[in-house]
Amino acid sequence: MKLPKVNDLGFFEIRLESIGGMGANSAGKMLADIGVLYQGYNGAAFSSYGSEKKGSPVKAFVRLCDSGTQVKVNSIIEEPHVLAVFHMNLLKNPMTLMGVKDDAVVIFNTSMTPEEARDFACLHGGTVVCIDAIKIASEEKLPATNTVMMGAMVKHLDFLDKTFFEKKIEEQFRSKPDVIESNVRAFRRGYDECSSKVFAADSKYPYIPFKKPNPVYGKKNQPVGGYISAAGNSVVKDLTVTRVGNIPVYHNENCIDCAMCEIVCPDMCIVFDRHRGGDLQIGEKRKAIKDGQMYMKGIDYKHCKGCRKCIIVCPTTKKEDKSLHALTDEIEANYTVADITCSRYDK
Ligand code: SF4
Ligand code: SF4
Repeated sequence: MKLPKVNDLGFFEIRLESIGGMGANSAGKMLADIGVLYQGYNGAAFSSYGSEKKGSPVKAFVRLCDSGTQVKVNSIIEEPHVLAVFHMNLLKNPMTLMGVKDDAVVIFNTSMTPEEARDFACLHGGTVVCIDAIKIASEEKLPATNTVMMGAMVKHLDFLDKTFFEKKIEEQFRSKPDVIESNVRAFRRGYDECSSKVFAADSKYPYIPFKKPNPVYGKKNQPVGGYISAAGNSVVKDLTVTRVGNIPVYHNENCIDCAMCEIVCPDMCIVFDRHRGGDLQIGEKRKAIKDGQMYMKGIDYKHCKGCRKCIIVCPTTKKEDKSLHALTDEIEANYTVADITCSRYDK
């Protein structure tokens, strides 16, 4: 079947905006496999990660073209015909919608209606498809939402054959036969339970053109090549958008500097420093910090993903005196996060 539309280079392009662990990378590969191996198009799929770990923003790209066109581009997709947003938190970053024109299909993982989702995202126009993929995935006891998202996508892309996807899911999970049925069911539910609405570009919200961010480092200021000065140094990556669930708030005066939180934090967000310049007294309850002693300064929320491991291990057990407390929305309401964020790079 002919592709519904193509860009100047002859490609139909799909961009998946996701968070590491939600399955966008494998969804992109499955889409390209089906297009190329089952339906006879030419195509390519690749992903772009920040720091390679669960919880970081991930983009996956799929290009399809007719069998007579060669795939000679390998750059990121700037103006996708289809955009799938695997988590609504990603919309905190306006770059998520960059280059999405008003004839695009935009799939949101949300329980909102298409009208609510369009307003939430400030999308200028396009076909908005909403599917509560997290609910369906959890009801089907699946760790990732990708098969649900693919179901919603296939429903709105006539040229993709639904039966091939079910076949591909069976093939993909051949080594884990116990999840084949639930993934096929999740795919079908994504297909059947999504809702959609077409919005004209009515000037309610502006179009966000694609723009490459200026490089932070250039020949005048880039550090010596190949030299990593500190572990966990993704200084230019703000991972705030991917933080969901409870996040820790640090109560300095109850801390005993045991560093248990630092040991378990997977993202090196716990900032310890060596105190210099005489004894330091923080609050009435805490022992004075001696000159030269390492002490816990705070949390780097720019990289904290809210896993709560630090809260669980913190040994200051009396509830009212705990050094680390879990808070959700309260942190945004009661604290200016920028003010309480600590960075190991601030001296
Ligand atoms: S919740 Fe705690 S352990 Fe988890 S990333 Fe944030 S600071 Fe680290
Ligand atoms: S685990 Fe608790 S007491 Fe220990 S250093 Fe971290 S915040 Fe302080």
